[in-house]
Amino acid sequence: MKEQTHRMTRQRRVILEELREMDTHPGAEEVFEAVRRKLPRISLGTVYRNLEILSELGEIQKLELGGTLMRFDSKTEKHYHMRCINCDRVDDAPMGFMENMETALRGATEFKIMDHRLEFLGLCPVCMEKALDRKTLEESSRGAAAASAQTPTKKASNF
Ligand SMILES: [Zn+2]
Ligand SMILES: [Zn+2]
Repeated sequence: MKEQTHRMTRQRRVILEELREMDTHPGAEEVFEAVRRKLPRISLGTVYRNLEILSELGEIQKLELGGTLMRFDSKTEKHYHMRCINCDRVDDAPMGFMENMETALRGATEFKIMDHRLEFLGLCPVCMEKALDRKTLEESSRGAAAASAQTPTKKASNF
């Protein structure tokens, strides 16, 4: 099973090739429609699963545009947020809204830019601390194991 995850199957290769042909940032259904022309028997589920695997392998990027996390904010002026990727805590980012990011795009695109969203992703202090604790714990248990393994040798050399 694990073997299969890392092997580039024919289906996965076709999916990757088709996606590389598209510059539309397609959804799974669109990729499925394209792939189906070459592999008529493939299912949407298979396409979806392979897209997930390809993204885990770093061959493609999964975009989560707009996000699926619904939150509410009493602050109505435009501002950015930081989201903890571990616990979904959302804080205001301590920086001003950058109108000039939109100005920078003017003339460079045929899009009429009306707004922009920016979300910073990371670990909140609580999760950061937990992550550090876990790391310290892992390191100290590894250290203890190494130390106990070394003890007999040390004793032998001491006496
Ligand atoms: Zn957190
Ligand atoms: Zn806010």
